[in-house]
Amino acid sequence: MTNHNETLFARAQLSTPGGVNSPVRAFRSVGGTPRFITRAEGPYFWDADDRRYIDYIGSWGPAIVGHAHPEVVTAVQEAAARGLSFGAPTEGEILMAEEICKLVPGVEQLRLVSSGTEATMSALRLARGATRRDKIIKFEGCYHGHADSLLVKAGSGLLTFGNPTSAGVPEDFSKHTLVLDYNNSQQLEEVFRTVGDQIACVIVEPVAGNMNLVRATTEFLQTMRRLCSQHGSVLIFDEVMCGFRVGLHGAQALYEIQADLVCLGKVIGGGLPVAAFGGRADLMKHMAPLGGVYQAGTLSGNPVAVAAGLTTLKIIQREGFYSTLTAQTRELAERLTAAGQAAGHQFCADAVGGMFGLYFSAQIPDSYASVMASDKEKFNRFFHLMLDAGVYLAPSAFEAGFVSIQHNTQIIDATIEAAKRAFAHL
Ligand SMILES: *Cc1c(COP(=O)(O)O)cnc(C)c1O
Repeated sequence: MTNHNETLFARAQLSTPGGVNSPVRAFRSVGGTPRFITRAEGPYFWDADDRRYIDYIGSWGPAIVGHAHPEVVTAVQEAAARGLSFGAPTEGEILMAEEICKLVPGVEQLRLVSSGTEATMSALRLARGATRRDKIIKFEGCYHGHADSLLVKAGSGLLTFGNPTSAGVPEDFSKHTLVLDYNNSQQLEEVFRTVGDQIACVIVEPVAGNMNLVRATTEFLQTMRRLCSQHGSVLIFDEVMCGFRVGLHGAQALYEIQADLVCLGKVIGGGLPVAAFGGRADLMKHMAPLGGVYQAGTLSGNPVAVAAGLTTLKIIQREGFYSTLTAQTRELAERLTAAGQAAGHQFCADAVGGMFGLYFSAQIPDSYASVMASDKEKFNRFFHLMLDAGVYLAPSAFEAGFVSIQHNTQIIDATIEAAKRAFAHL
């Protein structure tokens, strides 16, 4: 039997480092050959051998209305026929900005960019420009894209600044980044007490989705809010992943805590490259051409991408969208937990809105350290058993999963049947 995935992977590695354009796609964590995808529809995608999978990565978040939704595809086709890119403003960008300002608490103005990395990088520059401070705080296990200042892990002590997690990041950049433990309010208090007036901003994933799924506690986010206000630091919620995933108004509404700046991406592009950062107008006025903080983009607010994003934002506002999505995702998490535990495994699952986490551990983790303590080897075997059964989970024990509105009871039933067999064979 020919295996087109293997042939393609071998060929890809000749022209592209590791054969992929983003590292997690390479299956390094779980081993084996990545599947090369040829098409997708609703809750499914198909690989190069024409094998169908129930897709639980949803392009890592964007595919919330299901793949190739006819309304989104039509909007993209119509926009494309009018021209692909102009390098001059369009009304679509206004509509997009108005829609996001309406839906995301505290966002009075925003700027569109093309990736989440650009959004967080620009928000950071804005926070530094507006406060005239250099130091920033981030948390272990949160991912905020691959800008230099953010590819940093904890230093040797609480008040020592971080170490680069990537080659090519000068220590001169990472030394401005303090990395603290997620959900540790005491540490945050301690650091603010010492260097509070030097902190430009705190950036956080309020529902973390890049170390598997880990919820922040309300108390942790409240402490962060209070300390930022007291010390004149900018609070940045990186909702690139959790925005429009945990609910229509994002994590700010879920926790009833308002950030100063919010970063968005993934869902707002509906599968095409759109991201954004925005917030208080008095902060946003520091952006060029009004203020001194420079940021720009040839394809920012691209008309085809905006058409996909706007249409997606319209669909998710329909009656019952989030209650259905949340119920489906919760049902998946609960039935997986029951199946895993019935088979005698230390296993649990959690869900927030349309995001979920699977953990081979006795309890739902609340920090990077507790996620890292889960049984990664068992997850890897589970992943491959599920993949062989036609269920595509995130190819890493340290990534969240995503459900679309098209993952109905029938899809969940099929997933649970596959999971029961996998748990029995583990
Ligand atoms: C995906 C992600 C990013 C980076 O977005 P890209 O579009 O991949 O550059 C930033 N922050 C969070 C929380 C993300 O999940």
